[in-house]
Amino acid sequence: MTPNSAIKENLERVLAELPAGVDLVAVSKFQPLEALQEAYAAGQRRFGESRADELVAKASAMPADVQWHFIGHLQTNKVRKVVSCRPMIESIDSERLLRLVNDEALRAGVMTINVLLQVHVAAEETKTGFLPHELLECARTCGTLPGICICGVMGMATNTESADRIRADFQAIAAVSAQLQLFMPQATTLSMGMSGDWPLAVQQGANMVRIGTAIFGSR
Ligand SMILES: *Cc1c(COP(=O)(O)O)cnc(C)c1O
Repeated sequence: MTPNSAIKENLERVLAELPAGVDLVAVSKFQPLEALQEAYAAGQRRFGESRADELVAKASAMPADVQWHFIGHLQTNKVRKVVSCRPMIESIDSERLLRLVNDEALRAGVMTINVLLQVHVAAEETKTGFLPHELLECARTCGTLPGICICGVMGMATNTESADRIRADFQAIAAVSAQLQLFMPQATTLSMGMSGDWPLAVQQGANMVRIGTAIFGSR
């Protein structure tokens, strides 16, 4: 693992390379609390987690002004736990899940959970997410649910060496985002790009990137 002292440097390097207007989610999944604290001390406030229990544990240990992003596959029996941390949930991959998040947000009191709809364009069958037409359909159907705010789209490119394929995947994700904004103009967040491919994502219009390894080292 990268020694703690490198986290600040890594963070500063990434931030220096990111164009203005692109928000950084520091993906801290599987990293120890000390790593998050190091990044927090360096000024980072937005962290990404992929497991409900880990999110809850870290949220209770970190300062209250951290903005959490949930980026992993969310099981329906973990929705209540995740909602209790009031994260942006980037990985909504079914209408059923979205409705459950809405229900739990309403149950928890007066608050709205910000969500992104995850689109599946990558070659891997293992990756989750809506097909583009399903995503648009879900947004049309669920756009007025009072407990959620659909803020945009999240997606991942195929895990490949081919820059052409990655670029095409990001273009496809950006196209879904553009179609969504035709009838949901406030849904402007476009979260795409990870440690290995974020410059290509930014070229294709990402305004949020999710970077783990390049900041914290390997998991
Ligand atoms: C783990 C993860 C990331 C970060 O990946 P790195 O390659 O470590 O930057 C980004 N997005 C999602 C959805 C992830 O699960």
